[in-house]
Amino acid sequence: MAEKFDAIVVGAGPAGNAAAYTMAKAGLSVLQLERGETPGTKNVQGAILYADALERIIPDFRDDAPLERHVIEQRMWVLDEKSFIGTNYRSDAFNSDQPNRYTILRAPFDKWFSGKVKAAGGLVICETTVTELIQEGKKVIGIHTDREGGDIYADVVILADGVNSLLAKKAGFHGELEAKNVALAVKEIHFLPEEVVQSRFNIKGNEGVVIEIAGAVTHGMVGTAFLYTNKESITLGIGCLLSDFKKAGIAPYTLLEELKAHPAIAPLIAGGEMKEYAAHLIPEGGYKAVPTLYGDGWMIAGDSAGLVNAVHREGSNLAMTSGRLAAETVIALKEMKLPCTAPHLARYKAALDDSFVMKDLRKYKELPEILHSNPHFFSVYPQLLNRAAHTMLMVDGQDKHSKEKTIRGSFVQQRSLWGLVGDAYRMWRATR
Ligand SMILES: Cc1cc2nc3c(=O)[nH]c(=O)nc-3n(C[C@H](O)[C@H](O)[C@H](O)COP(=O)(O)OP(=O)(O)OC[C@H]3O[C@@H](n4cnc5c(N)ncnc54)[C@H](O)[C@@H]3O)c2cc1C
Repeated sequence: MAEKFDAIVVGAGPAGNAAAYTMAKAGLSVLQLERGETPGTKNVQGAILYADALERIIPDFRDDAPLERHVIEQRMWVLDEKSFIGTNYRSDAFNSDQPNRYTILRAPFDKWFSGKVKAAGGLVICETTVTELIQEGKKVIGIHTDREGGDIYADVVILADGVNSLLAKKAGFHGELEAKNVALAVKEIHFLPEEVVQSRFNIKGNEGVVIEIAGAVTHGMVGTAFLYTNKESITLGIGCLLSDFKKAGIAPYTLLEELKAHPAIAPLIAGGEMKEYAAHLIPEGGYKAVPTLYGDGWMIAGDSAGLVNAVHREGSNLAMTSGRLAAETVIALKEMKLPCTAPHLARYKAALDDSFVMKDLRKYKELPEILHSNPHFFSVYPQLLNRAAHTMLMVDGQDKHSKEKTIRGSFVQQRSLWGLVGDAYRMWRATR
C-alpha cells in the first residue's frame, strides 16, 4: 500500500477517536491504526466519562453510547487503617436530561466511538502496530507498520498512542518517561446484581456514585484509590507513583487487596464476582512534564502528550479535547490550503493553551513536585484527621475544650507549629 491520506491517527483511545472522527466528519481522508484486536481491548480507565468533552464532538452521543450510570454523588474519603473521614456531595440536579458525568466501561465505549469514526468515513485498521514514523529530514511524512505492505503517507500524523508513546520516543520528540512522573494503577471490576448496587449506594435507575479515596491505603506513597458504580458492577482501583512503588518495594496488587479488605470498602463489594483485572500507567507529571506538542508533519495528543489532570482524575476529557483541537487545526489548514508545517501547527498549541486543558495543568504545575517532596501529606494527615474525628465523636465524659486541646496537641506534636504553617503554605502554592 503506497497511499497518501490527509491524516494518519495512531491509536483508537479517546484522543485518537476524537481526532479521527472530527477530521473524517469534515470530509478529510483519514487512516486510523490501532494495535488492539478492537478499539478498547488495550485500554484501561476507572472510568468516569466527562460529557462536556464528548458533547463538543458528538452532541447526541447519549442516544447510543454505552453508558453505565450518571453520577449524582461524589464522596471523598481519607482512610486510616480502620476508619475514614470524608465528605459527600449529592444533588438531584445531576439527574438532568443531560447529565455531566457518567461511569463507562472502556471496551464497549471505545468500540462505539470507533464505530462513529467508521460511519463518518474514516478508515480504521485494528491489530496493526505503527512501528516507526517515516521522516524526511525533520518532517514526518508517514508511518511504517508491522503489517506487510508498503509505507503509508499523510500530510500529518497525529500521535494518540497513549502514555508510553514509543513512537514519539523513537523519533526523539520526547525522552524516557521518568518514574516520578508516572503512576501505576491497578483495578478490578466486581460484578453484582443491579438491585444490589442500587441498594448499597442508595441510588435508583441509572444513578451512580463515585468515591475518591486517599490515606493509609497507599502506605504513604503519593497516590489515590477509587470506587465507581456501574450498572451491574463496581470498579475498584488504586494507583501510586512508580518511583514510590520502587522505593517502597510494595506490589500494586498488595495495595488493592488491602483496599478491598478495608472495613469501609469490604461491605460495598461483598458477594461480588471479580471478572476483570487490569494495570496501566497514568502520566502524572503535569504541566512541567508536557513534551513538545507539534512539529513538521506531526502533533501529539492525550496521554502520549502527558495531558492528565491527576488532582481531579481527569484524563479522557483532556485526551478527547486535545484530539479534537489537533483535528480542527488540520481542518483549518486544509481550508486555507496551508501545509502542516511546524509554524502552522503551532495553532494546535495555541488552542490547547486557550482551553481548560493547559489552564488546569498550569494551575497545578507545582503540585507534583510538592507532593513528591512532602510524603507526610499521604501518611501523617490522614491519621491525624481520623484520630481527630474519633476523639471528637467519642462521648466519654471528657469536656469538648479538653478534646480540642488534645487534637491541637496531636497536630503540633506530629508536624510542629511551623510545620503546619509550612504545609498550609505549600498546599496553597500547589493549588492556587
Ligand atoms: C486505572 C485508571 C483509571 C482512570 N480513570 C479515569 C477516569 O475515571 N476518568 C478519566 O477521564 N480518565 C481516567 N484515566 C485516564 C484515562 O484512561 C486516559 O487519560 C485516557 O485513556 C487517555 O486516552 P488516550 O487516547 O490518550 O490514550 P489510550 O486510551 O491509552 O489509547 C491509546 C491507544 O493507542 C493504541 N496504541 C498504542 N501504541 C500504538 C501503536 N504503536 N500502533 C497502534 N496503536 C497503538 C493503544 O492500543 C490504545 O488503544 C484513568 C487511567 C487509569 C489507568
